[in-house]
Parts: sequence; C-alpha cells; structure tokens
Amino acid sequence: MIADIKSQTREELEATFKAWSQPAYRLSQLLEWLYVHRVTEWEAMTNLPKTLRELLRENFSLQPLELVCQRGSRDATRKFLWRLADRSLIESVLLPANPSLYGEPADRHTLCVSTQVGCAYGCKFCASGLDGWKRNLRVEEIVEQVAAVERWNAARPVGDWSPQESITDLLPNVADEKRPTREAFPRVLDFPQARRQVDSESAGFESTVESGATVPSAAARLINNLVIMGMGEPLANYDHLLKALKILNAAWGGGIGARKITISTSGLAPQIRKLAGEPLQFRLAISLHGATDETRNRLMPVNRRYPLRELIAACEYYQAKKGGLITFEYILIAGVNDAIAETKSLAQLARRLHAKVNLIPYNRVEGLDWARPDEARQEAFLAALEKQKVTATLRREKGHDIAAACGQLRLQTERELAPVKTGEA
Ligand code: SAH
Ligand code: SF4
Repeated sequence: MIADIKSQTREELEATFKAWSQPAYRLSQLLEWLYVHRVTEWEAMTNLPKTLRELLRENFSLQPLELVCQRGSRDATRKFLWRLADRSLIESVLLPANPSLYGEPADRHTLCVSTQVGCAYGCKFCASGLDGWKRNLRVEEIVEQVAAVERWNAARPVGDWSPQESITDLLPNVADEKRPTREAFPRVLDFPQARRQVDSESAGFESTVESGATVPSAAARLINNLVIMGMGEPLANYDHLLKALKILNAAWGGGIGARKITISTSGLAPQIRKLAGEPLQFRLAISLHGATDETRNRLMPVNRRYPLRELIAACEYYQAKKGGLITFEYILIAGVNDAIAETKSLAQLARRLHAKVNLIPYNRVEGLDWARPDEARQEAFLAALEKQKVTATLRREKGHDIAAACGQLRLQTERELAPVKTGEA
C-alpha cells in the first residue's frame, strides 16, 4: 500500500522532492494545496506541472475522510461522523467555544479528535470500549479530521452557522427507514460570534499560490485548539499520534500550537514518561474518575496494570520535565464515585500535582446502567473540592443532546446499521 501524502512530514517530502529533482518551492506549493486549500484531488493543484502531479499520484494516496453525517446541538457543538477507507466509522466533535477548560480564553474553536477505531481499554462507563478495539488510526486519518472539518467550514456560505441536517447519501446500503432523518437532528442556535471571528481572520489571509491560478476559496483556520479525547486511547497509538501532532503543529501544516493541544489518557504510565521526552510541550489530561485504587479498579481495568501510585509518579515526572498544568478529568457517576468523602483523596492528589480538576457529569450510554448524579450533588462535590483549595470546574456538558460523549454517535450508528451489515455478508 502506498503512503498517504498527509502522513508525510515536510522533511520526508523534502527528501522525496530532492530525489525527484524538484525545486524546493514546488514543495511549498504542494503543502499549501494540502493544508491551506485542503484540496482532495491532485488535479486541483493547478500550479504544479502535470508531470509532478502524476509522480505524486503514482507514489502517494490523497484520501479525504468521507462525511457520513454531522449533527449540531443546541449549544452549537457539532459532531462529525466519518467513514474511513475500510468502512470503519470514527467521530470528531467541534466545540465552537472552549469554556476555559484547558487554560484558553473562551473564544476558541476546539476540535476533539479520535485516535483509534474502538478502544481496547474497556472502561466500564464508556461507549468507545463497548465493542472492543478494531485498529489504530493512521497518521493521515488523524490529520484529516482537522483538515476535513476545516474543509467543511470553508465550503459553507459565509454567515451560515445555521442548523445542518446534511445527512449525505453516503449510506447506500441503508434501507430508507433506517436512514437518519432531518427530524433526528436537533436545531442549533445561530452562531454569529464564531463566524465574525473566522471572517476577521480571513481578512489577513495571503496566498502564495501563483497569481492567475484558480484556487478554491480558502477560509482562514477555524480550529485553534485540539483535544485528543475522541474515540480510542491516544497513548496506545503513540507513534501515529505523535507524527500526526507534529504535522498538525507545524507552521506548514495545521499551525496549531503545541500548548493548545491536550492529550487525554486513561493512565498509561510508561507512555506518559515517554511523552515527557518529546520536544513538543503538550498539555496532559488524566482521566482519573476515581482517586483511590478501589474506585478506579471498579471503573477502569487499566488501573490494575498501572495503579495510582505509578500513574501519579509518571505525572510528576512529566511535570518535572515539561512543566505546565496537568488536568484531572473526573466523570461524576451516581453512587459510584460521587460521594463527598471521595473528594478528600481527590483533593490530596490534585494538590500534590497542582492539577486542575474538571468535573464532568456522566453522559448516559445506551445499554449501560450508570447515571449522572443530580445537580445538587454535582455542585456539592465541586464545593467540597474548592473548600479543600483545589481549582475545579464543573462542566455543564456540551453536546449532551447529540450523544457527544466519547464513541456514542459511532456506537449508535453501528447499531442502526447492524442488520444491514448482516444482510451484506
Ligand atoms: N481514552 C482517552 C481519551 C478518550 S476518552 C481517555 O480515556 O482519556 C475522553 C474522555 O471522555 C475521558 O475522560 C473519558 O473518561 C470520557 N468519557 C467516556 N465516556 C463518557 C461518558 N459516557 N460520559 C462522560 N464522559 C465520558
Ligand atoms: Fe478507552 Fe478512554 Fe473510553 Fe476508557 S474512557 S474505554 S480509555 S476511550
């Protein structure tokens, strides 16, 4: 199988172009077509000589993600379901405003990306792990999630943040009654503020494409924050993730600052240590969900392999090498980890690491018995942490109404499609 062009770093492409005796400026042109205009076909690269386009076609694939459907929620969170070349489904979630969860001002666009198809870690509360692990995403499949959302954004008419019901006809084998309908998509509020920001960024945009070339309109970048919190355990797909992030961080690629990239892990201690040795300085979020081994063991099998002592030591090592804030993610699940008494050990760990705690009310997953505690309990848990001098936030969940929690839309769609799949076999 030939490599996809979006799996390549600039250095790798430089070597290829050198071997092809191509001048350096041709590479800049190629990168601009890929990461500024985000074209999906070689023919669109009109200022590259035909011979070079042919060389590229013979040696690399250029495979965009296929949008199966996208949903907008009432709070303007937008969820994208993509189909990969092998027909696997993955999801990305666009959060138009980051409510300062990871130290950013609230006017950012954050994209939550997936790193695997399914997940092998089997946390008891999580939709992604329910059907097990299928495979790691390739570098280009991670990079393309950002490019494809940017492409989707650029293709919309200016000012159009209106509700989208664009279930495309990309589900050819789905019986009509099984197709998601327009009614299935809740309407979202218009989002003029976000649009204004995009428009003002576009104003300063300059193209280096030769004059006279016809180029598709390139909207300015929409996404300035990444959270690696979609489907899958990012640190279990370490090499592909790191290469993808290098491309997404590079000025010639995604242009997203490393400090605006948050990697979330369920607690793979050795990989956290390995990450500490990387040149880029990412933010780290630990999916803690329990502050004692007893609670964590109940929720997350990974804790038996890397118990809290090991996990916390790895976090301390990361901080010593990298500095910066670590965030603890803590899902509040009724009757499981929401007792006020739990805040004592949580506060101890948070103070020890100077970590911020993000409390996330549990998003119900079909087929699982867990539920979120009522709001009074959520607020009481938050207040108890604050009383113990811990910086904590309570996420009043975005996208709850569009099945935004990790893996839920995919699971729902896989289940809707299940009888169809059987029919195909
Ligand atoms: N595997 C990584 C990253 C993906 S999960 C990890 O576990 O950190 C991203 C976040 O969503 C994690 O904190 C995870 O615990 C949380 N999550 C999973 N299912 C959820 C649900 N039903 N409700 C709320 N949060 C959920
Ligand atoms: Fe995997 Fe993270 Fe879900 Fe656990 S919470 S099953 S590690 S995706």
